[in-house]
Amino acid sequence: MTDREQAVVDAVPTDLFIGGQWRPAAGQQTFDVEDPATAKTLCAVADASPEDGVAALDAAVAAQRSWADHPPRERGEILRRAYQVMMDRQDDLALLMTLEMGKPLAESKGEIAYAAEFFRWFAEEAVRISGGFATAPSGSGRFLVMRQPVGPCLLITPWNFPAAMGSRKIGPAVAAGCTMVIKPAGLTPLSMLALADILRECGLPDGVLNVVPTSRSGRMMEPLIRDGRARKLSFTGSTEVGRTLLEQCSEHIMRTSMELGGNAPFLVFADADLDAAIEGAMTAKMRNIGEACTAANRFYVHADVADEFSARLAERMGALRIGRGTDEGVQVGPLIESKARDKVQQLVDDAVGRGARVLVGGEAVEGPGHFYRPTVLTGVPTDAEMAQAEIFGPVAPITTFTNEDEALADANNTPLGLVSYVYTRDLQRSLRVCERLEAGMVGLNQGLVSNPAAPFGGVKHSGLGREGGSVGIDEFLETKYVAVATG
Ligand code: NAD
Repeated sequence: MTDREQAVVDAVPTDLFIGGQWRPAAGQQTFDVEDPATAKTLCAVADASPEDGVAALDAAVAAQRSWADHPPRERGEILRRAYQVMMDRQDDLALLMTLEMGKPLAESKGEIAYAAEFFRWFAEEAVRISGGFATAPSGSGRFLVMRQPVGPCLLITPWNFPAAMGSRKIGPAVAAGCTMVIKPAGLTPLSMLALADILRECGLPDGVLNVVPTSRSGRMMEPLIRDGRARKLSFTGSTEVGRTLLEQCSEHIMRTSMELGGNAPFLVFADADLDAAIEGAMTAKMRNIGEACTAANRFYVHADVADEFSARLAERMGALRIGRGTDEGVQVGPLIESKARDKVQQLVDDAVGRGARVLVGGEAVEGPGHFYRPTVLTGVPTDAEMAQAEIFGPVAPITTFTNEDEALADANNTPLGLVSYVYTRDLQRSLRVCERLEAGMVGLNQGLVSNPAAPFGGVKHSGLGREGGSVGIDEFLETKYVAVATG
């Protein structure tokens, strides 16, 4: 590590953040955080036990009443200050993220801006929580509708966007007047710890936000979910874990938001602007090294343009510079861990075994670090494992189609439904296809949908609820109706 890298890691508090205090885990236990580019340990972080988790929930419950009464303007101003501090420290926060997660520095900087924007967006939403007043249809009596914070929340985030997946939940929870316990992913807890310290510095009262990294996610979280005092669970992660958590939440009928896995189709029609489609494909596939829930996972390209599209995509993918994300000009960092790289290789081998052709890549890069070459496969049969599994790596499998119905049937042939991408210049087809795609979001002639001001979320097994946009705060509010007698 360089001196600057060491300084950035050293500046992060590595204890648990409970009730406004940094404190070690019960029994002083810690776990190591690794740089996936070197497979070396960056630092050790306090490893929360189930008892630490309960202490964090105690703190959130104790702070709930006064936080709900806190003026919305002040709640918003804390978020607005945190937005500014994040942007002022964007370079250091980005370096920290690249060190723990691997993505190239330019992408980490982009994520810090994206993450901070959730704070700015919800700073503005905090003062716009409205209710309703109406006359009963009979004319006798009035309806008063109020929106109130749901109460203490449990938040669980994944490793692939270590800051943004947290701020997308913390922002609306703070704005709505909810307190919270957040458990960041064990692979990337540092960005969240840094964010917590910024919120503390910006005046967030003690106990509103509590952060408990742990190496024992299930053991620590299940008692908190079953405790009954937390009123909401907001989870971002895999569908498999989401299903388990939904079962646990059923005991106390908790409110849930579930941002789960994706398996995005990327459709290129014969009339598409191929330059734009290639640009969009690079973004939709390679953002975050392919480790995104929104990553294009299956490319369906019309037979008339498939050869040209495939050759051009392969050329672009083959030209990308692989390396440690901290190095100047690097475009492809390492995958998060060796297990992830091995899974990508296994999916590629399976597709090739079923007749797919490798245009570029198709293999790992020798370590240290968990690198995999950007890969384009053509002739990928629909029964290949990667048609149903999230690849979560830099692999673009291409299949051809000859008509719209076939393309839509292939695109929708998955239990998941987070996002789809469509490239066509035909307006009527655009609307038809957008309507028929089974997805919570569609990128129409663009390869990036994420925006703090828009509602992000999926259908089918990709989840429940939406984050961001003007509906994002609703996930943290209850509606109370008061029936008013008028005599
Ligand atoms: P994961 O489900 O393995 O883990 C997500 C989080 O849940 C982590 O913090 C993990 O420690 C925790 N966890 C794991 N088991 C748990 C349990 N039994 N009880 C409580 N917590 C538990 O997912 P991941 O590998 O970290 O992230 C990748 C997955 O997340 C992919 O499927 C991706 O599509 C999905 N994702 C979805 C979105 C979205 O907005 N829809 C965004 C990013 C990632």
